Amino acid sequence: MKKLIRFLIRTIPRPVLIRFSYLFSRIMRVWYRGDKVDCPVCENSFRKFLPYGIVIRENALCPACLSLERHRLLWLFLKEETDLFSNKMTFLHVAPEQCFHPRFKKLENLDYITADLESPMADMHFDLHDIPLEDNQYDFLMCNHVMEHVEDDHQVMKEILRILKPGGKAILQVPLDNSLEETYEDPNITNPAEREKHFLQKDHVRLYGNDYPQRLEKAGFKVSAFSFAQVLGKEKTEKFKLPFDEVIFLASKPEV
Ligand SMILES: [Zn+2]
Repeated sequence: MKKLIRFLIRTIPRPVLIRFSYLFSRIMRVWYRGDKVDCPVCENSFRKFLPYGIVIRENALCPACLSLERHRLLWLFLKEETDLFSNKMTFLHVAPEQCFHPRFKKLENLDYITADLESPMADMHFDLHDIPLEDNQYDFLMCNHVMEHVEDDHQVMKEILRILKPGGKAILQVPLDNSLEETYEDPNITNPAEREKHFLQKDHVRLYGNDYPQRLEKAGFKVSAFSFAQVLGKEKTEKFKLPFDEVIFLASKPEV
């Protein structure tokens, strides 16, 4: 069974897993029932999480809601460090994560809307380089693991800043290689296999380094950095299986 699960997760692309997530999670949550790990997103407990990744990581994917380590960390951060679950606010969620989307939709304090380039699940469809929305619309915006795919990330960051209200906040997480001081990009690398070799994935156009917060600042954001798993401590990191070294950047639009 273990080999079969590994084979399925390795072979089936995550969007397909997500499409069949109802059936998949019905089977997996029984198979994985237990009390060794907790998922803070769906609030279920299991004997362990599922293995996941191109290079397989043990204890990564929640059998019930399909959250990964980074989703669980971000969820805990949003609950403890933001007003997203209590204050009335307008919230634009770009490229909405499957594990978060239904939960944000249910929150009555939020005026919640989703956007994507093409996903039929999203409410609006547009290109982030030229967002067809007026200035100063949103209190909160989330757009994770998107910047590494866009042609001109500076332009996209400026567009996101423009539609945020003054004082509005954004979470724009990216895969980040902390052994790189500077972001690595080369517009001449366009072949998918070469992109995978240089930027980790066929559809990535750059690999971010430790200068990522400075790139956000260059677009006009104020940035606060949180090593949030380290704030939560080893015990919770183990229980929720969180990425201990991941830094969450909270980007704010200055109040003028
Ligand atoms: Zn879960």
